This record gives sequence, structure tokens and C-alpha cells, in this order.
Amino acid sequence: MTVNPSGWRPSSPATEQVTGDTTTGNRALMLEEPLLFEIGDTETTGVDFEDVEASANRLGGLERSRPIGLAGLSEPETVRHYTRLSRQNYAIDLGLFPLGSCTMKHNPRLNEKIARLPGFADIHPLQPVDTVQGALQVINELAEWLLALTGMYGVAMSPKAGAHGELCGLLCIRTALEARGDAREVVLVPESAHGTNPATAAFAGYRVENIPANAAGRVDLEALRKRLGAGGRDNGVAALMITNPNTCGLFEPDMIAISEAVHAAGGFVYCDGANFNAIVGKVRPGDLGIDAMHINLHKTFSTPHGGGGPGSGPVVVSEALSPYGPLPWAARYPDGSYRLVEEEGAAEEHPLGFGRMVAFHGQMGMFTRALAYILSHGADGLRQVAEDAVLNANYVLRSLEDVLDAPFAASGPCMHEALFSDRGFSGGLGTIDLAKALIDEGFHPMTMYFPLVVHGAMLVEPTETESRAALDQFIVAMRSIAERAKAGDQSLKAAPVHAPRRRLDETLAARKPVLTYQHLVPEAADEPTPHEKGDR
Ligand SMILES: *Cc1c(COP(=O)(O)O)cnc(C)c1O
Repeated sequence: MTVNPSGWRPSSPATEQVTGDTTTGNRALMLEEPLLFEIGDTETTGVDFEDVEASANRLGGLERSRPIGLAGLSEPETVRHYTRLSRQNYAIDLGLFPLGSCTMKHNPRLNEKIARLPGFADIHPLQPVDTVQGALQVINELAEWLLALTGMYGVAMSPKAGAHGELCGLLCIRTALEARGDAREVVLVPESAHGTNPATAAFAGYRVENIPANAAGRVDLEALRKRLGAGGRDNGVAALMITNPNTCGLFEPDMIAISEAVHAAGGFVYCDGANFNAIVGKVRPGDLGIDAMHINLHKTFSTPHGGGGPGSGPVVVSEALSPYGPLPWAARYPDGSYRLVEEEGAAEEHPLGFGRMVAFHGQMGMFTRALAYILSHGADGLRQVAEDAVLNANYVLRSLEDVLDAPFAASGPCMHEALFSDRGFSGGLGTIDLAKALIDEGFHPMTMYFPLVVHGAMLVEPTETESRAALDQFIVAMRSIAERAKAGDQSLKAAPVHAPRRRLDETLAARKPVLTYQHLVPEAADEPTPHEKGDR
């Protein structure tokens, strides 16, 4: 393959459609970016080592038998490649990111400053405990805040994300049930649940059964009661996994009755706490009868997520589940110093725990950021966060309900996210067309086709950190696209027209992903990758 030495390749198939009338494919100072493999080739490398005399091969037959096929690039070529690509990213630091259920709020720079203090940023998980007392204190203090905010009894800080927290919670529940000789096989999941809930339940070895939603978008309490049976304990239900506020952006007002019904039937209540931003400082999940709940520090407590960083999903648990939680945890001695409760000694202190989920304790960078966020807001500030998040979502809901179908708007205010659907669009247009047109208007699309209980769902979560002016601009864009969709404006089918790439075949990309670049390694080309096997 020939490579243009200066890096760009005029009118390659990928660039053709966006070149407009420039020769290079660049648009002003926004540069068109080829693949890494199109810039470099396997014959050159970015570094220039002299040949060394071969030493004896000590790889015992494990040496590579064919070329690795990586494109060789110089440092400036590499830096430019990734910097150009990064300019094509959209980020919360650039504009509104209304991705429902994801709580894409601003990440305060104060958090970053704290997380970068060398005493936090440069520690190693294998350092002696007496050299990381401050870090353990941070973990412990954050844990105490999470317990205070949720009204729960214990907390496992080690899960690395929301879904990992779900697994931690279900493993606590399973261990508790097994300890009382009552292993059960079913986890109930409402229809509106996030996909991670049934996936976690299945991963933990449970059979998943759905509980329907009622016309108001809430869990159908009667259907739940019916499934649990009349007070007996032979219903097989280990747990209900419920999200509150739920993924329709609505509070479950029957939550206490739901918890009581599950407890009476001998099961536990797991709450998916991803939507905690709507109620932080207002409602304590512990008061609602919840036994376990993960907290996405990267949503509610503003630590960067998505492309921006790792998550962290501490799990708060009730007194009944606390004996079964995982190791390790940070504990305080009476003299005020800290220790990590690990395997050694746990036999006495924590004999019923289900074990260890992670190699090292916690996501230190997320803990420092979350604690900085909590301390800089204070209890009153956190309550204000929830109030403003709900206010912003209702502003969006009421500003758009006359042009977009809003399935549950008639039943009252929403919580932190506004739910719309594509009902009323004409000319074969749907949610995807509105979302793509939103890209042309400079906004990341909302969450699409989720929750599943609403056909053509659009879930908008503005968060509390957007100004009224930003929301108004978003609303103007949404209104104009919605009007076009209702009028059946077929030009929407072509959107996005101003993005670096036009509408892609996302179904094909998901079903038949091509994840390797074949052309540089001729020997490898006729050996299909696992993804290609059977597809071609
Ligand atoms: C984000 C989210 C999760 C999963 O959290 P991760 O940190 O991405 O694993 C689960 N449930 C709901 C409702 C969510 O929004």
C-alpha cells in the first residue's frame, strides 16, 4: 500500500463524502484524519536503534513468528494523530451533554487539583499502610459521607463501577441467603431497568423475571405482590433490583410498600442508585427499606466518566447484609490511625464476608475527587444539587411537551430527566433522525431507545450544572428539529451533514465489527480474525 508521506490521502473512500471543495479534505483548521495505518507503514519506525548482536533466544518457543503489523510513526506524527482525533471528540467541557441516565455534569476543577496532590496521585497500592494514612482517611471519610447521605449501615468501597457494584450487592445477598440455608434462584427486574441489572443478575447465577410497569411508568405493585405470593417464602425470589428514581425519570412513590412486600417474602431489595443525583440530600434510601445500593461516584459526585476516566461504584448495604460484604475495607483504630482489613485477621473480624472482588482497594483518584466535591458542596449544597437537577429537567420537559410527545408528563413533574418519544413524527422519521440532527446543531444526542418501555424513547438529563441560557439554546434546537420531524422533512434522514463523518451503518458496525486493520500484514490477511469467522 502506498502511503502519502505527509499524512493525508486525498479522496480516500472515507474522506470523499466530507471533503467539500477542499483538495486536502481539511475544513479550515479542522484537519481530516486518516487511520494510523494510513499515515505510517511497517517498514519505518519512529526510533532509530543501531543493530545489536543477537543474544541467545530465551523465549522458549514463545517468540513471535510473524510481523506484528504496527505502523511505525515518529513522535510528532503520533502526537498530531491523536491530537487531531481528540479535536473531533465531543465532551462535557465543550457543551451540553444531555445523555439520560448518565448524569454528565461539569467536573469541578477543584476536584482535579485535589486529586493531583502528589500524596494522593503518586501512591502505590503496595505501599506500607503506615505511609498511606492520609489516603485511608480519605476513603474512610468518604465512606462516612456516603452512609450519612444514604442512611445505610455499611459500605463496600472497592467496586470499580456501577455494574460492578450491582454484582457486589447481589453477591452479598446471595451469601446472606446461603448463610440462612435459603438459596433462591430468581431476581425480579422491572421492565424499565437499565440493561446492567438483568445482566448482573444472570452473571451472579440468577434467573431473571420481569415485573411490568403500569400506565404511569412505575412498577406495577399489584403484579409484584402477585409474583411474590401470599406471604409464603417458597417464591424463589432472592431479590428485586429496582431503580429509584426510575429510568423513566420518575420517583417510585410506592417504594416502602415495595420493600415491605419483598421483605415479607424473604427476599432483599437492591436499588440501582445511578439516579441518586435527583434525590441526594433529600431522600435517604435506607429509609425506604433498601438493602443494597450502588452509588456511581462518577455520576452523582462529578468524577469524570465516559471517555474521560474510570468509574467507581461503592455499595451501601443494610445492617442485615453488612456481615457479608467484601474485603478489604479501611477501618479506624481507637487512636485515630487507619488500617486496611485484609484477608489476614478477617476470619475473626469478618468471618461471613463473601471475599474479595478486586486486586487493590478502590479507585483512589475517584475517591479524592468525590470527597472534594462533597466537602465543597456541604450537606446544603448537595441538596441544592438535587433540586437544581430536577428543576432543569422539568424546565426542559415543560418547554418541549407541546412539540414532542412526553409520555408521563401529564402525571406530574419529572425527577432529574425528561422523557420524550417520537410519536407524531411523520414520513418514516424517528428518534434516530432527531438525534443525528442534534449533532448538526452542536449537541451530543440524548439517550435513545431507552428505557425500553417507551417506544422511540428520548431520555434527556440536563443536570444541574447547565445554565438557563444553555438550556434555552438546546430547547430552540430541539423545537426546530421536532417541527421538521413532525412535518416529515426528509432532509433529516441525511443528518448529520456537518459532522466529520455522515450517518454510519451502526447496525452493521455492531453486528460485524472489523476491529483489526488487515492490509499491513500480508501473511495474516488470509487468516480470518475471530470476528470475521463465519461472517465472510
Ligand atoms: C450508569 C448506569 C448503570 C451502570 O453504571 P456503570 O458505572 O456504567 O457500570 C446502571 N444503571 C443505571 C440506571 C445507570 O444509569
